Amino acid sequence: MIISTKKGTPQTELDSIVHNFEKQGLAVTLIRGTDYNVFGLVGDTTKIAEKDVLANPWVENVTRVSAPYKRANRLFHPADSIIDVGGVKIGGNAPFAIMAGPCSIEGEEQICRLAAEVQQGGATLLRGGAYKPRTSPYSFQGLGTEGILDMVKARQKTGMPIVSELMSEERIDEFEEYVDLVQIGARNMQNFQLLKAVGKMHKPILLKRGLANTIEEWIMSAEYIMAGGNEQVILCERGIRTFEKYTRNTLDLSAVPVIKEKTHLPVIVDPSHATGDWKLVESMALAAVAAGADGLEIEVHDDPPRAWSDGAQCLKPDKFADMVAKCKRVAAAVGRDM
Ligand code: PEP
Ligand code: MN
Repeated sequence: MIISTKKGTPQTELDSIVHNFEKQGLAVTLIRGTDYNVFGLVGDTTKIAEKDVLANPWVENVTRVSAPYKRANRLFHPADSIIDVGGVKIGGNAPFAIMAGPCSIEGEEQICRLAAEVQQGGATLLRGGAYKPRTSPYSFQGLGTEGILDMVKARQKTGMPIVSELMSEERIDEFEEYVDLVQIGARNMQNFQLLKAVGKMHKPILLKRGLANTIEEWIMSAEYIMAGGNEQVILCERGIRTFEKYTRNTLDLSAVPVIKEKTHLPVIVDPSHATGDWKLVESMALAAVAAGADGLEIEVHDDPPRAWSDGAQCLKPDKFADMVAKCKRVAAAVGRDM
């Protein structure tokens, strides 16, 4: 971290700044100039907030030279993390992962039928929502525990690990017992209480990017989970809010190589929520494979107009299978197993 102080800062103030940082275990180098004095801080600056340093009226400028996250940082963990989700490995050189299934679980018969169909089409994990974060309180809110138990039946029949969204701490025991990959949705990406709580879980976490969050904020949320002791985090880019209205969100595919550069965590892409339109899902899925993502999360329904949520962005099972076949060709072209 580099700090410059204003012209005329009294010596007592400079001494107190040096003392304050040294007390926190940092090595401080002071470079004196005629107009400004510049401090270089070396050591673990993750606990120092730029805003707090700027609160001192003698401080002119603060520049962070190292990232504010540590556990997620590739600098301190150069090898790719590979996360084991109920026996399916995700990240590094593990085969490309495909999570697919309905937006909402609509009952045992539906989820078991769709599970078999998506598995046939190439999925390796089953997704389905039982606790739904809906914009309207009058929309279908999910089947809750009943839905989770329906999914467990689908896992018994297909052997596929299951992915589902956790919205509140109250359900942690249920998810710890039944769910293989615990999804934290876009709307809860900065629910810090929930992040701390899942940081104590023993199951891997799928952390979706918030609707209007920067990549750094997203990594800091992963850092929350990891700081709690749970290092099994997979990131999911699902589109961000922009001025564009044609699509539900704007898929920020550049986040994939940025995440790969900055962190060692696996990153997958959800083109369903990113576009909100089934017609756009395949092309964005192919682009995600080419961009180096570690997997995809895709919404699939066999009767989209009658889906209990997100029908407009659901692929039918045959279209999903076609998409996977094309993804395999792109994966082969970029040297990725699938
Ligand atoms: C979902 O995957 O069902 C979902 C609600 O996604 P997001 O949190 O990305 O909107
Ligand atoms: Mn959905």
